Amino acid sequence: MTREGVTMSAMDRIAAQVAGCVLSGEGTRPVVVSCRDLHRAFGTVRAVDGVDLRLGEGEIGALLGPSGCGKTTLLRLIAGFERPDRGEVRVGGVQVAGDREFVPPQRRRIGMVFQDYALFPHLDVAANVGYALGRRPDAARVAQVLELVGLGGLGDRRPHELSGGQQQRVALARALAPTPALILLDEPFSNLDAALRERVRADVREILRAAGVTVLIVTHDQEEALSIADRVFVMRAGRIEQEGMPEEVYSSPASRWAAEFLGDVDILPGQAAGGHATCALGRVPVPEGLEGPVDVLVRPESLTVGLGREEGGQGAVVVARTYFGHDQLVTLELGDGLRLRSRCMGFPAWHPGDRLRVRLSGPVSVLPVQPGDDR
Ligand code: ATP
Repeated sequence: MTREGVTMSAMDRIAAQVAGCVLSGEGTRPVVVSCRDLHRAFGTVRAVDGVDLRLGEGEIGALLGPSGCGKTTLLRLIAGFERPDRGEVRVGGVQVAGDREFVPPQRRRIGMVFQDYALFPHLDVAANVGYALGRRPDAARVAQVLELVGLGGLGDRRPHELSGGQQQRVALARALAPTPALILLDEPFSNLDAALRERVRADVREILRAAGVTVLIVTHDQEEALSIADRVFVMRAGRIEQEGMPEEVYSSPASRWAAEFLGDVDILPGQAAGGHATCALGRVPVPEGLEGPVDVLVRPESLTVGLGREEGGQGAVVVARTYFGHDQLVTLELGDGLRLRSRCMGFPAWHPGDRLRVRLSGPVSVLPVQPGDDR
């Protein structure tokens, strides 16, 4: 973990945390937005139920969770479209919502990109962007942000003369124009068809990086969150269930729920003792102190299959397969009837009835069995 080429020791990182910085894959950054013990209920529905969240300068955060978990409400609390019942929001070190404080949205230095882009159809692109800069918009700044989003020269077009992806860039340019401290994006790619989404996502990430702005994106799409964000906040029923770098939340989920929400996973019963857990796939290491019944969480890409004995592992028979060309998802049954999935290369293509060897070849995570977990 480095900053300006300097490797940070564990002590440096702890000191930085104490000093109020956010740690990320690229080092420490001053905190730009923070929520502390944030609550907002609608009648008996606790939409946001005690959220703590911090994002550092230039970081892209993704708020990821299923429908109704409170993502939009949290975004609206940060933007100032909702008042919290309790707790605090700070932007750029300034309290914008708290016990006695409530700064209106237009004074929070926050840019917002809405799901439907909310462009004025009767205004051209330059005027749409200039709208964010007040009565006498600075034409040079408008041209500069249009250039940044790759729309230089298209300032005199109307929104209906642009593609969906281009319209989204206008919305992005409008949010960036007043140099906000923070940009909030609510499901920004949901209006784009699947083929376009991936490309636009990569483009938007590049634009946001080039602008160096801090960003919070709301999405219910796991792949979107993992591919665009530096830090993912997994939200469930009004709370942050887990936060971390994409690879952390994916490969070390905090709960069975988070594991299943973030991607395909098979859960094997296991027994932990002395730094190892034993399960149907053999022995896997566990953190010191973890003893007793555990769940071993196996992602399909952590399971390798092959024909020969040299593969090691144990025998299994293919019971189902979905072929995607570049890869395939193979469902295997072990001797004891246990079923597991392997995501492996498309070649060789396996078929139901094939007898294979299967072994663990990637990371697994092990969690203690929680009360209420069905085993
Ligand atoms: P989605 O992904 O479907 O947009 P979400 O995670 O953004 O969902 P929210 O829109 O924040 O979820 O809603 C959280 C909960 O609060 C839901 O149960 C919703 O019905 C409720 N809720 C949100 N806004 C209001 C409101 N103004 N009045 C009453 N209930 C509301």
